[in-house]
Amino acid sequence: MFQSRLKQFADRALMRRLSPLESGTGPTIQYAGRQVILLSSNDYLGLATHPDVVRAAIHATEQYGAGSGASRLISGTLPPHMHLEASLAAFKGTEAALLFGAGYLANIGIIPNLVGQGGLILADRLCHASLIDGCRLSRADFRIFRHRDCAHLESLLRRRRANRPTVIITEGLFSMDGDVAPLSDLVSLAERYEATLYVDDAHGTGIMGPAGRGTIEHFGLEQQIPFHMGTLSKALGSHGAYIVGPNDLIQYLVNVARPFIFTTALPPAIAAAAAAAVAVIQREPARRMRLWSNRQRLFNGVQKLGFRTTQTVSPILPILVGDAATASALAERLLTHGIYASAIRPPTVPDGTSRIRFTVTSEHTTEQIDEALHALDLAGRETGLL
Ligand SMILES: *Cc1c(COP(=O)(O)O)cnc(C)c1O
Repeated sequence: MFQSRLKQFADRALMRRLSPLESGTGPTIQYAGRQVILLSSNDYLGLATHPDVVRAAIHATEQYGAGSGASRLISGTLPPHMHLEASLAAFKGTEAALLFGAGYLANIGIIPNLVGQGGLILADRLCHASLIDGCRLSRADFRIFRHRDCAHLESLLRRRRANRPTVIITEGLFSMDGDVAPLSDLVSLAERYEATLYVDDAHGTGIMGPAGRGTIEHFGLEQQIPFHMGTLSKALGSHGAYIVGPNDLIQYLVNVARPFIFTTALPPAIAAAAAAAVAVIQREPARRMRLWSNRQRLFNGVQKLGFRTTQTVSPILPILVGDAATASALAERLLTHGIYASAIRPPTVPDGTSRIRFTVTSEHTTEQIDEALHALDLAGRETGLL
């Protein structure tokens, strides 16, 4: 039975397989017996291997142990958790913060407690799978609006039954297209139609905004968007997720969010590493500068080669290919030229929009970026895309 199902994936070039690295993450990695340039990591600022972050993890393990021993509400709330929640709230300028074991858990834990049966959720078409699963778990009616299309969203809001509890869901910086949500317009619509706006800023946190506080800071909307979630696993180089917002919201979630209540607290090392990463982001703005100049170099090069991309404004740089088989072929050719960049295929992205998704970091050298562009030129010709 499983074999025939697997064959269906293979036939459509949609088979997924693990690709084990032979090293840790970084601008270069060891893979399939050689060193290659990695352009597929979310560690935008290189913080996963930053000495201060690594040292914080080691110290916390020595001081508090490898595991936290229990869920947060039993006996698993240790000093690193309290310190990280305080750091995140201070960094984001909110009253409080609450940790979750992962972004996936945060989204499926929070959304069903914002709206339930009888309510309405309106979500951007490109929302992450964890947001979609949170919507499904909520039992609210759930509609998709076209990507970044506020006119479409408004038409859905206008048609809804009066007084219906409504939540609008978007990512701040979209993970697969690298473009940003029209947050100012979403705020206005949420106000006008008395809806709650839920922003997932997994990818924006640490890189967007003058101080790296994220996409909401980028748009100057911190006063207008009183709470949002993000992860510790992308630019923060660690693991887990958070929601930041007013005290009463956080206290409410402590009481109702099942993926918060019924799971073991994050290991002390992870929490300590994330707190150290928040400090680095505030202390080393030069990393953000390097990231954006690398991003511009890669973006200009890709444009010059003539590849199709999205409306990206970020270090996420999709090379749109179309069908899944060609995307896989391009990834293979890139690898033979020393570039690791994985193909992204349905259902992660909509049908016909398979792509290579480059992500560049602050730690890539200009030589590595130029090498990647050269490889892309060769691989593009070899696959008939150029
Ligand atoms: C990565 C991601 C998540 C999931 O976060 P994890 O911590 O990896 O579980 C959620 N939402 C978005 C938009 C993401 O990019």
